[in-house]
Amino acid sequence: MPHVPLRRCRVCRKQLPKARLERWTVRDGQLARDAGQTAPGRGYYSCSERCAEILPKTMKHTKHKSKQNA
Ligand SMILES: [Zn+2]
Repeated sequence: MPHVPLRRCRVCRKQLPKARLERWTVRDGQLARDAGQTAPGRGYYSCSERCAEILPKTMKHTKHKSKQNA
């Protein structure tokens, strides 16, 4: 069985294969959909339209933190 890379939805914490998730990156301080899943920088993932709507709200309280999550 081939290894499928899993990514966690930032909003609901569900783990899904990367291909099932939508990738987002922060560009000019705004979340931007990364259609090609190849944009540089920290990526965030959402699993559904609903989570995609909530995703920007989860960014607020992490914006000024210097602590990095592995
Ligand atoms: Zn989700």
